[in-house]
Amino acid sequence: MTGWILKLSLSLLLISCSPATERPATPSKVVSKDSTIGSHNAKKDSLKEAKDFLENELKSLIDLKIINKKKSDKLAEILSAVKVEFLNPDGDRKEAFLIVHKEVASQIKSIFKEIADSGFVIDKIEPMSKYKWSDDSSMVYNNTSCFNYRLVSGTRSMSKHAYGLALDINPFWNPFVSGKRVSPKGAKYDPAKNGTIHRKALIYKIFIKNGWKWGGDWKPYQDYQHFFYDKIKVKTF
Ligand SMILES: [Zn+2]
Repeated sequence: MTGWILKLSLSLLLISCSPATERPATPSKVVSKDSTIGSHNAKKDSLKEAKDFLENELKSLIDLKIINKKKSDKLAEILSAVKVEFLNPDGDRKEAFLIVHKEVASQIKSIFKEIADSGFVIDKIEPMSKYKWSDDSSMVYNNTSCFNYRLVSGTRSMSKHAYGLALDINPFWNPFVSGKRVSPKGAKYDPAKNGTIHRKALIYKIFIKNGWKWGGDWKPYQDYQHFFYDKIKVKTF
């Protein structure tokens, strides 16, 4: 009898003890584990957001029959969407995606942070799909952009924009000027205005020190909105 009671209380003891071994980790351990998972998930989410942005933009190019699926796959291999900061005309710090060549993505992110810190205003950064990939339309609306699968205006050669290696910043405030011809129409280049690029502006210095070149330095015409990177040789396709 006593042996039986002892056996019973022993097994009860074992039963009552066994869940303890399966109990979750101590609260302090849970917190540190969760915060690691949390930041890991946030990183995963932002990577997914960037991937989805690029996919949707490329899909809109296919839908508009500007490129086919094969070309889209090739572009997806060399491009990435990067979230950049900018200071809008209301003085608010904003964030938006730019599609750029993979090899300049992290550089572009830090360049845009430096531009925002310098107080330089960027009117807007909106997806090119919103403008149906029309450079003219994006310029008229003063939209800052990078990737656009297009030719150099008025030529048959692919633009550096087609590989995410050229940026057009505030294009209505920084137009293309050739003698008396100004594009977009109605635009006026006024270096005194915040958001306008000129050699004394910090934005110019920031791009130049990072190895970029400026279309405003060209002769005999100037493309004041245009910064480009020619240190990466891309195979055109
Ligand atoms: Zn350009």
